[in-house]
Amino acid sequence: MTTVRSVPKPTMECETEHFLMAQRQLDEIAVEMGLDPELHERLRYPKRALIVTVPVRMDDGTVKTFTGYRVHHDTTLGPAKGGIRFHPEVNLGEVSGLAMLMTWKCALMGLPYGGAKGGIRCDATKLSTGEKERMTRRYTSEIINLIGPDKDIPAPDMYTNEQTMAWIMDTYSINVGHTVPSVVTGKPVSIGGSLGRNEATGRGVAYCVKRAVEFTELKSSPVSVVVQGFGNVGSVAARLLHDAGFKIVAVSDVYGGVYNPQGLDIPRLQAYVSEMGRVPDFAGGQPVTNSELLEVPCDVLVPAALGNQIHMGNAKRLQCKIIVEGANGPTSPEADQWLTEQGVFIVPDILANAGGVTVSYFEWVQGLMHLFWTEDEVNKRLETIMGRACDQVFEMTKRSGLRSRMSAMRIAIGRLAEAKRLRGLYP
Ligand code: NAD
Repeated sequence: MTTVRSVPKPTMECETEHFLMAQRQLDEIAVEMGLDPELHERLRYPKRALIVTVPVRMDDGTVKTFTGYRVHHDTTLGPAKGGIRFHPEVNLGEVSGLAMLMTWKCALMGLPYGGAKGGIRCDATKLSTGEKERMTRRYTSEIINLIGPDKDIPAPDMYTNEQTMAWIMDTYSINVGHTVPSVVTGKPVSIGGSLGRNEATGRGVAYCVKRAVEFTELKSSPVSVVVQGFGNVGSVAARLLHDAGFKIVAVSDVYGGVYNPQGLDIPRLQAYVSEMGRVPDFAGGQPVTNSELLEVPCDVLVPAALGNQIHMGNAKRLQCKIIVEGANGPTSPEADQWLTEQGVFIVPDILANAGGVTVSYFEWVQGLMHLFWTEDEVNKRLETIMGRACDQVFEMTKRSGLRSRMSAMRIAIGRLAEAKRLRGLYP
Protein backbone atom coordinates (compact mmCIF):
# COMPACT_ATOMS: atom_id res chain seq x y z
CA MET A 1 0.00 0.00 0.00
CA THR A 2 1.65 3.20 -1.16
CA THR A 3 -0.92 5.77 0.02
CA VAL A 4 -1.37 6.78 3.64
CA ARG A 5 -4.95 6.84 4.84
CA SER A 6 -5.15 9.71 7.31
CA VAL A 7 -8.77 10.51 6.51
CA PRO A 8 -11.91 9.42 8.41
CA LYS A 9 -12.28 5.62 8.06
CA PRO A 10 -15.31 4.27 6.17
CA THR A 11 -18.28 2.85 8.05
CA MET A 12 -20.63 0.37 6.43
CA GLU A 13 -23.41 -0.25 8.97
CA CYS A 14 -26.81 1.26 8.32
CA GLU A 15 -28.29 0.67 11.77
CA THR A 16 -26.48 3.42 13.65
CA GLU A 17 -28.08 5.37 16.50
CA HIS A 18 -29.02 8.11 14.03
CA PHE A 19 -30.81 5.72 11.70
CA LEU A 20 -32.54 3.86 14.54
CA MET A 21 -33.83 7.20 15.83
CA ALA A 22 -35.45 7.93 12.44
CA GLN A 23 -36.88 4.39 12.41
CA ARG A 24 -38.30 4.76 15.95
CA GLN A 25 -40.15 7.91 14.88
CA LEU A 26 -41.66 6.03 11.94
CA ASP A 27 -42.59 3.07 14.18
CA GLU A 28 -44.34 5.36 16.66
CA ILE A 29 -46.52 7.12 14.09
CA ALA A 30 -47.16 3.88 12.15
CA VAL A 31 -48.81 2.36 15.23
CA GLU A 32 -50.67 5.57 16.03
CA MET A 33 -52.14 5.94 12.53
CA GLY A 34 -52.74 2.22 11.99
CA LEU A 35 -50.40 2.07 8.97
CA ASP A 36 -50.57 -1.15 6.94
CA PRO A 37 -47.80 -3.32 8.55
CA GLU A 38 -46.43 -4.42 5.14
CA LEU A 39 -46.10 -0.84 4.02
CA HIS A 40 -44.59 0.11 7.37
CA GLU A 41 -41.92 -2.58 6.93
CA ARG A 42 -41.07 -1.32 3.41
CA LEU A 43 -40.61 2.23 4.70
CA ARG A 44 -38.27 1.21 7.52
CA TYR A 45 -35.26 0.77 5.21
CA PRO A 46 -33.73 2.66 2.27
CA LYS A 47 -34.77 1.60 -1.23
CA ARG A 48 -31.13 1.61 -2.32
CA ALA A 49 -27.76 2.67 -0.90
CA LEU A 50 -24.42 3.12 -2.62
CA ILE A 51 -21.02 3.30 -0.91
CA VAL A 52 -18.15 4.56 -3.04
CA THR A 53 -14.42 4.97 -2.62
CA VAL A 54 -13.21 8.43 -3.64
CA PRO A 55 -9.47 8.67 -4.31
CA VAL A 56 -8.22 12.26 -4.40
CA ARG A 57 -4.88 13.70 -5.50
CA MET A 58 -3.97 16.09 -2.68
CA ASP A 59 -2.05 19.34 -3.19
CA ASP A 60 1.16 17.72 -1.88
CA GLY A 61 1.01 15.04 -4.62
CA THR A 62 -0.14 12.14 -2.39
CA VAL A 63 -3.44 10.29 -2.93
CA LYS A 64 -5.93 10.05 -0.08
CA THR A 65 -8.98 7.82 -0.14
CA PHE A 66 -12.31 9.07 1.19
CA THR A 67 -15.62 7.24 1.52
CA GLY A 68 -18.79 8.60 -0.09
CA TYR A 69 -22.43 7.59 0.24
CA ARG A 70 -25.67 8.18 -1.67
CA VAL A 71 -28.93 6.73 -0.39
CA HIS A 72 -32.46 6.76 -1.84
CA HIS A 73 -35.02 6.08 0.87
CA ASP A 74 -38.16 6.14 -1.30
CA THR A 75 -39.09 7.32 -4.80
CA THR A 76 -42.84 6.72 -4.91
CA LEU A 77 -43.77 10.39 -5.38
CA GLY A 78 -41.00 11.34 -7.83
CA PRO A 79 -37.23 11.56 -8.26
CA ALA A 80 -35.15 11.31 -5.08
CA LYS A 81 -34.18 14.68 -3.59
CA GLY A 82 -31.68 15.47 -0.86
CA GLY A 83 -28.48 17.20 0.11
CA ILE A 84 -24.84 16.19 0.05
CA ARG A 85 -22.75 16.87 3.16
CA PHE A 86 -19.01 16.82 3.73
CA HIS A 87 -18.38 15.96 7.38
CA PRO A 88 -16.04 13.65 9.35
CA GLU A 89 -19.02 11.90 10.97
CA VAL A 90 -20.92 11.09 7.77
CA ASN A 91 -21.76 7.38 7.69
CA LEU A 92 -24.28 5.08 6.05
CA GLY A 93 -26.63 5.21 9.03
CA GLU A 94 -26.66 9.00 9.23
CA VAL A 95 -27.23 9.38 5.50
CA SER A 96 -29.97 6.71 5.51
CA GLY A 97 -31.76 8.36 8.45
CA LEU A 98 -31.55 11.76 6.75
CA ALA A 99 -32.82 10.28 3.46
CA MET A 100 -35.87 9.00 5.35
CA LEU A 101 -36.47 12.49 6.77
CA MET A 102 -36.31 13.85 3.21
CA THR A 103 -39.07 11.44 2.12
CA TRP A 104 -41.35 12.74 4.88
CA LYS A 105 -40.36 16.38 4.24
CA CYS A 106 -41.13 16.31 0.50
CA ALA A 107 -44.44 14.50 1.08
CA LEU A 108 -45.41 16.98 3.82
CA MET A 109 -44.69 19.98 1.58
CA GLY A 110 -46.61 18.41 -1.32
CA LEU A 111 -43.51 18.27 -3.56
CA PRO A 112 -43.27 15.58 -6.29
CA TYR A 113 -40.11 14.02 -4.86
CA GLY A 114 -38.85 11.05 -2.91
CA GLY A 115 -36.13 11.24 -0.27
CA ALA A 116 -32.34 10.97 -0.68
CA LYS A 117 -29.16 12.02 1.09
CA GLY A 118 -25.47 11.70 0.42
CA GLY A 119 -22.12 12.73 1.69
CA ILE A 120 -18.41 12.24 1.97
CA ARG A 121 -16.72 11.35 5.23
CA CYS A 122 -14.09 14.12 5.39
CA ASP A 123 -13.08 17.25 7.24
CA ALA A 124 -13.81 19.84 4.57
CA THR A 125 -12.27 22.62 6.67
CA LYS A 126 -8.86 20.98 6.16
CA LEU A 127 -9.13 20.69 2.36
CA SER A 128 -8.01 23.31 -0.16
CA THR A 129 -10.45 24.49 -2.84
CA GLY A 130 -8.62 22.37 -5.43
CA GLU A 131 -8.80 19.26 -3.23
CA LYS A 132 -12.52 19.82 -2.62
CA GLU A 133 -13.12 20.24 -6.34
CA ARG A 134 -11.27 17.01 -7.26
CA MET A 135 -13.06 15.14 -4.45
CA THR A 136 -16.48 16.43 -5.55
CA ARG A 137 -15.89 15.58 -9.21
CA ARG A 138 -14.65 12.05 -8.47
CA TYR A 139 -17.55 11.42 -6.05
CA THR A 140 -19.99 12.65 -8.75
CA SER A 141 -18.57 10.30 -11.32
CA GLU A 142 -18.78 7.39 -8.82
CA ILE A 143 -22.50 8.02 -8.13
CA ILE A 144 -23.37 9.11 -11.68
CA ASN A 145 -25.67 6.16 -12.37
CA LEU A 146 -27.88 7.13 -9.47
CA ILE A 147 -28.32 10.86 -10.19
CA GLY A 148 -30.08 12.80 -12.98
CA PRO A 149 -32.93 15.30 -13.35
CA ASP A 150 -35.54 12.49 -13.46
CA LYS A 151 -33.75 10.20 -10.98
CA ASP A 152 -32.09 12.01 -8.11
CA ILE A 153 -31.31 15.71 -7.72
CA PRO A 154 -28.64 16.58 -5.11
CA ALA A 155 -28.48 19.91 -3.24
CA PRO A 156 -26.11 21.55 -0.72
CA ASP A 157 -25.99 20.55 2.93
CA MET A 158 -23.37 20.93 5.66
CA TYR A 159 -20.02 22.14 4.32
CA THR A 160 -21.19 22.07 0.71
CA ASN A 161 -22.47 25.10 -1.17
CA GLU A 162 -23.38 26.47 -4.59
CA GLN A 163 -19.80 26.03 -5.84
CA THR A 164 -20.00 22.32 -4.94
CA MET A 165 -23.26 22.08 -6.91
CA ALA A 166 -21.62 23.83 -9.91
CA TRP A 167 -18.85 21.18 -9.92
CA ILE A 168 -21.40 18.34 -9.72
CA MET A 169 -23.47 19.87 -12.53
CA ASP A 170 -20.37 20.33 -14.70
CA THR A 171 -19.05 16.80 -14.08
CA TYR A 172 -22.46 15.26 -14.84
CA SER A 173 -22.89 17.42 -17.97
CA ILE A 174 -19.42 16.54 -19.33
CA ASN A 175 -20.17 12.85 -18.82
CA VAL A 176 -23.53 12.89 -20.63
CA GLY A 177 -22.26 15.23 -23.36
CA HIS A 178 -24.59 18.21 -22.90
CA THR A 179 -25.42 20.79 -20.23
CA VAL A 180 -27.92 19.53 -17.65
CA PRO A 181 -28.61 22.29 -15.10
CA SER A 182 -31.52 20.39 -13.50
CA VAL A 183 -29.30 17.62 -12.16
CA VAL A 184 -28.66 19.69 -9.03
CA THR A 185 -30.34 22.53 -7.17
CA GLY A 186 -28.74 25.20 -5.03
CA LYS A 187 -26.37 26.09 -7.90
CA PRO A 188 -25.26 29.66 -8.72
CA VAL A 189 -27.87 31.84 -10.45
CA SER A 190 -25.52 32.43 -13.41
CA ILE A 191 -25.70 28.73 -14.36
CA GLY A 192 -29.42 28.21 -13.81
CA GLY A 193 -29.88 28.58 -10.06
CA SER A 194 -32.96 30.23 -8.62
CA LEU A 195 -33.07 33.67 -7.07
CA GLY A 196 -33.87 33.26 -3.40
CA ARG A 197 -32.53 29.67 -3.10
CA ASN A 198 -29.54 30.60 -0.95
CA GLU A 199 -31.70 32.24 1.70
CA ALA A 200 -34.68 29.87 1.35
CA THR A 201 -34.07 27.55 4.31
CA GLY A 202 -33.35 30.41 6.70
CA ARG A 203 -36.33 32.33 5.31
CA GLY A 204 -38.59 29.31 5.91
CA VAL A 205 -37.21 28.95 9.48
CA ALA A 206 -37.90 32.65 10.18
CA TYR A 207 -41.42 32.24 8.75
CA CYS A 208 -42.06 29.24 11.05
CA VAL A 209 -40.82 31.22 14.08
CA LYS A 210 -43.40 33.92 13.32
CA ARG A 211 -46.19 31.37 12.78
CA ALA A 212 -45.30 29.46 15.98
CA VAL A 213 -45.31 32.72 18.00
CA GLU A 214 -48.82 33.46 16.66
CA PHE A 215 -50.06 29.89 17.18
CA THR A 216 -48.87 29.74 20.80
CA GLU A 217 -50.13 33.30 21.42
CA LEU A 218 -46.80 34.24 22.94
CA LYS A 219 -47.10 37.68 24.50
CA SER A 220 -43.40 38.70 24.87
CA SER A 221 -42.39 41.91 23.14
CA PRO A 222 -39.89 41.79 21.64
CA VAL A 223 -39.69 38.01 21.25
CA SER A 224 -36.18 36.79 22.20
CA VAL A 225 -34.42 34.21 20.03
CA VAL A 226 -31.28 32.04 20.38
CA VAL A 227 -29.72 30.55 17.24
CA GLN A 228 -27.21 27.68 17.31
CA GLY A 229 -25.17 27.59 14.07
CA PHE A 230 -24.38 30.70 12.02
CA GLY A 231 -24.01 29.13 8.58
CA ASN A 232 -26.42 29.29 5.67
CA VAL A 233 -29.54 28.49 7.71
CA GLY A 234 -28.74 30.11 11.07
CA SER A 235 -27.33 33.41 9.79
CA VAL A 236 -30.19 34.04 7.33
CA ALA A 237 -32.86 33.16 9.93
CA ALA A 238 -31.15 35.40 12.54
CA ARG A 239 -30.89 38.30 10.08
CA LEU A 240 -34.51 38.09 8.88
CA LEU A 241 -35.83 37.81 12.44
CA HIS A 242 -33.63 40.69 13.57
CA ASP A 243 -34.94 42.82 10.69
CA ALA A 244 -38.52 41.86 11.65
CA GLY A 245 -38.05 43.21 15.21
CA PHE A 246 -37.13 40.00 17.08
CA LYS A 247 -34.34 40.25 19.67
CA ILE A 248 -31.54 37.76 18.90
CA VAL A 249 -29.86 37.25 22.28
CA ALA A 250 -27.30 34.55 21.43
CA VAL A 251 -25.76 32.84 18.40
CA SER A 252 -22.90 30.39 17.95
CA ASP A 253 -20.86 28.49 15.42
CA VAL A 254 -18.56 25.48 15.75
CA TYR A 255 -15.99 27.61 17.61
CA GLY A 256 -18.36 28.95 20.31
CA GLY A 257 -20.93 31.70 20.78
CA VAL A 258 -21.82 35.20 21.96
CA TYR A 259 -24.62 36.22 24.30
CA ASN A 260 -26.17 39.62 24.93
CA PRO A 261 -29.47 39.71 26.84
CA GLN A 262 -30.12 43.19 25.33
CA GLY A 263 -29.93 41.72 21.81
CA LEU A 264 -27.07 41.29 19.33
CA ASP A 265 -26.48 43.59 16.37
CA ILE A 266 -26.89 40.88 13.71
CA PRO A 267 -25.84 42.92 10.64
CA ARG A 268 -22.60 43.84 12.47
CA LEU A 269 -22.10 40.24 13.56
CA GLN A 270 -22.59 39.05 9.95
CA ALA A 271 -19.96 41.54 8.76
CA TYR A 272 -17.62 40.37 11.56
CA VAL A 273 -18.11 36.68 10.63
CA SER A 274 -17.52 37.33 6.92
CA GLU A 275 -14.23 39.02 7.83
CA MET A 276 -12.99 36.78 10.68
CA GLY A 277 -14.65 33.48 9.70
CA ARG A 278 -15.95 32.85 13.24
CA VAL A 279 -18.50 34.06 15.80
CA PRO A 280 -16.51 34.08 19.10
CA ASP A 281 -14.69 37.27 20.14
CA PHE A 282 -17.38 39.46 18.54
CA ALA A 283 -17.34 42.60 20.67
CA GLY A 284 -21.13 42.99 20.97
CA GLY A 285 -21.69 40.26 23.58
CA GLN A 286 -20.15 37.97 26.18
CA PRO A 287 -18.66 34.55 25.32
CA VAL A 288 -20.82 31.46 25.73
CA THR A 289 -20.10 27.81 24.91
CA ASN A 290 -22.34 25.84 22.58
CA SER A 291 -23.84 23.81 25.41
CA GLU A 292 -24.46 26.94 27.54
CA LEU A 293 -26.08 28.64 24.56
CA LEU A 294 -28.87 26.06 24.40
CA GLU A 295 -29.72 26.80 28.05
CA VAL A 296 -29.89 30.61 27.76
CA PRO A 297 -33.34 31.97 28.74
CA CYS A 298 -35.28 32.87 25.57
CA ASP A 299 -38.69 32.61 23.95
CA VAL A 300 -37.53 30.76 20.83
CA LEU A 301 -34.58 28.41 20.39
CA VAL A 302 -33.44 27.70 16.81
CA PRO A 303 -30.96 24.82 16.57
CA ALA A 304 -29.45 25.33 13.09
CA ALA A 305 -26.18 23.38 13.21
CA LEU A 306 -25.95 19.64 13.85
CA GLY A 307 -28.25 16.76 14.74
CA ASN A 308 -28.81 15.42 18.26
CA GLN A 309 -28.12 18.66 20.17
CA ILE A 310 -31.19 18.50 22.44
CA HIS A 311 -31.49 15.26 24.43
CA MET A 312 -32.46 14.05 27.89
CA GLY A 313 -29.01 15.13 29.11
CA ASN A 314 -29.85 18.83 28.64
CA ALA A 315 -33.62 19.06 27.96
CA LYS A 316 -34.41 19.78 31.62
CA ARG A 317 -32.13 22.83 31.58
CA LEU A 318 -33.64 24.43 28.47
CA GLN A 319 -35.47 27.70 29.17
CA CYS A 320 -37.32 28.32 25.89
CA LYS A 321 -41.04 28.21 25.05
CA ILE A 322 -40.72 27.32 21.37
CA ILE A 323 -38.13 25.29 19.41
CA VAL A 324 -37.92 25.74 15.64
CA GLU A 325 -35.66 23.07 14.17
CA GLY A 326 -33.46 24.63 11.47
CA ALA A 327 -31.08 21.64 11.59
CA ASN A 328 -32.06 18.10 10.69
CA GLY A 329 -32.75 15.87 13.69
CA PRO A 330 -31.55 18.24 16.45
CA THR A 331 -33.94 16.81 19.09
CA SER A 332 -33.95 13.20 20.33
CA PRO A 333 -37.40 11.49 20.37
CA GLU A 334 -37.31 11.26 24.17
CA ALA A 335 -36.51 14.97 24.54
CA ASP A 336 -39.17 15.80 21.94
CA GLN A 337 -41.79 13.97 24.00
CA TRP A 338 -40.63 15.33 27.36
CA LEU A 339 -40.36 18.95 26.21
CA THR A 340 -43.80 18.81 24.56
CA GLU A 341 -45.25 17.51 27.84
CA GLN A 342 -43.65 20.51 29.59
CA GLY A 343 -45.49 22.84 27.20
CA VAL A 344 -42.64 23.63 24.81
CA PHE A 345 -44.00 23.94 21.25
CA ILE A 346 -41.67 22.31 18.69
CA VAL A 347 -41.80 23.06 14.99
CA PRO A 348 -40.21 19.87 13.62
CA ASP A 349 -37.35 19.84 11.11
CA ILE A 350 -39.42 18.36 8.28
CA LEU A 351 -41.56 21.50 8.39
CA ALA A 352 -39.22 24.18 9.77
CA ASN A 353 -36.29 23.68 7.38
CA ALA A 354 -38.36 22.69 4.33
CA GLY A 355 -37.92 26.14 2.73
CA GLY A 356 -34.70 24.90 1.12
CA VAL A 357 -36.18 21.91 -0.64
CA THR A 358 -39.25 23.95 -1.62
CA VAL A 359 -37.17 26.55 -3.46
CA SER A 360 -35.01 23.71 -4.80
CA TYR A 361 -38.21 22.41 -6.35
CA PHE A 362 -38.83 25.89 -7.83
CA GLU A 363 -35.26 25.88 -9.20
CA TRP A 364 -35.76 22.45 -10.79
CA VAL A 365 -39.10 23.49 -12.33
CA GLN A 366 -37.63 26.78 -13.66
CA GLY A 367 -34.69 24.84 -15.14
CA LEU A 368 -36.95 22.31 -16.86
CA MET A 369 -39.16 25.12 -18.25
CA HIS A 370 -36.19 27.40 -19.13
CA LEU A 371 -38.27 30.20 -17.62
CA PHE A 372 -37.05 32.12 -14.59
CA TRP A 373 -38.99 33.90 -11.84
CA THR A 374 -38.17 37.09 -9.93
CA GLU A 375 -36.97 36.83 -6.32
CA ASP A 376 -40.24 38.32 -5.18
CA GLU A 377 -42.21 35.62 -7.02
CA VAL A 378 -40.01 32.90 -5.49
CA ASN A 379 -40.45 34.28 -1.95
CA LYS A 380 -44.22 34.65 -2.37
CA ARG A 381 -44.59 31.08 -3.65
CA LEU A 382 -42.39 29.85 -0.79
CA GLU A 383 -44.59 31.61 1.74
CA THR A 384 -47.73 30.06 0.19
CA ILE A 385 -46.34 26.53 0.46
CA MET A 386 -44.83 27.03 3.96
CA GLY A 387 -48.07 28.68 5.11
CA ARG A 388 -50.19 25.78 3.84
CA ALA A 389 -47.95 23.19 5.52
CA CYS A 390 -47.89 25.16 8.83
CA ASP A 391 -51.71 25.40 8.77
CA GLN A 392 -52.04 21.65 8.17
CA VAL A 393 -49.54 20.63 10.87
CA PHE A 394 -50.74 23.11 13.51
CA GLU A 395 -54.38 22.19 12.82
CA MET A 396 -53.63 18.45 13.08
CA THR A 397 -51.68 19.06 16.34
CA LYS A 398 -54.61 20.96 17.84
CA ARG A 399 -57.22 18.45 16.66
CA SER A 400 -55.39 15.18 17.41
CA GLY A 401 -53.39 16.06 20.52
CA LEU A 402 -50.35 14.49 18.81
CA ARG A 403 -46.90 16.06 19.18
CA SER A 404 -46.32 18.44 16.28
CA ARG A 405 -43.58 16.16 14.87
CA MET A 406 -46.00 13.24 14.85
CA SER A 407 -48.71 15.40 13.23
CA ALA A 408 -46.29 16.36 10.45
CA MET A 409 -45.24 12.75 9.93
CA ARG A 410 -48.81 11.55 9.96
CA ILE A 411 -49.73 13.95 7.15
CA ALA A 412 -46.62 13.00 5.14
CA ILE A 413 -46.90 9.24 5.60
CA GLY A 414 -50.65 9.35 4.93
CA ARG A 415 -49.93 10.88 1.50
CA LEU A 416 -47.20 8.39 0.77
CA ALA A 417 -49.34 5.43 1.83
CA GLU A 418 -52.13 6.57 -0.48
CA ALA A 419 -49.69 6.91 -3.41
CA LYS A 420 -48.17 3.48 -2.74
CA ARG A 421 -51.62 1.88 -2.49
CA LEU A 422 -52.65 3.38 -5.84
CA ARG A 423 -49.41 2.42 -7.59
CA GLY A 424 -49.52 -1.13 -6.18
CA LEU A 425 -46.58 -3.50 -5.72
CA TYR A 426 -44.45 -4.52 -8.71
CA PRO A 427 -44.47 -7.19 -10.11
P1 NAD B 1 -23.45 25.40 7.08
O1 NAD B 1 -22.29 24.52 6.85
O2 NAD B 1 -23.65 26.60 6.22
O3 NAD B 1 -23.40 25.95 8.59
C1 NAD B 1 -23.30 25.09 9.69
C2 NAD B 1 -23.09 25.98 10.91
O4 NAD B 1 -23.08 25.16 12.08
C3 NAD B 1 -21.76 26.72 10.89
O5 NAD B 1 -21.92 28.01 11.48
C4 NAD B 1 -20.88 25.85 11.79
O6 NAD B 1 -19.80 26.58 12.36
C5 NAD B 1 -21.90 25.44 12.82
N1 NAD B 1 -21.53 24.27 13.58
C6 NAD B 1 -20.92 23.14 13.14
N2 NAD B 1 -20.70 22.30 14.17
C7 NAD B 1 -21.21 22.92 15.26
C8 NAD B 1 -21.29 22.57 16.64
N3 NAD B 1 -20.77 21.41 17.09
N4 NAD B 1 -21.89 23.44 17.48
C9 NAD B 1 -22.39 24.61 17.04
N5 NAD B 1 -22.33 25.00 15.76
C10 NAD B 1 -21.75 24.16 14.90
O7 NAD B 1 -24.71 24.44 7.09
P2 NAD B 1 -26.23 24.84 6.86
O8 NAD B 1 -26.53 24.68 5.42
O9 NAD B 1 -26.53 26.13 7.55
O10 NAD B 1 -26.96 23.63 7.62
C11 NAD B 1 -27.18 23.66 9.01
C12 NAD B 1 -28.21 22.57 9.35
O11 NAD B 1 -29.40 22.82 8.61
C13 NAD B 1 -27.78 21.14 9.01
O12 NAD B 1 -28.33 20.27 9.99
C14 NAD B 1 -28.46 20.90 7.69
O13 NAD B 1 -28.70 19.52 7.47
C15 NAD B 1 -29.75 21.65 7.88
N6 NAD B 1 -30.40 22.04 6.63
C16 NAD B 1 -29.79 22.86 5.72
C17 NAD B 1 -30.47 23.22 4.57
C18 NAD B 1 -29.88 24.17 3.55
O14 NAD B 1 -30.57 24.51 2.60
N7 NAD B 1 -28.65 24.64 3.74
C19 NAD B 1 -31.76 22.72 4.31
C20 NAD B 1 -32.35 21.90 5.26
C21 NAD B 1 -31.66 21.56 6.41
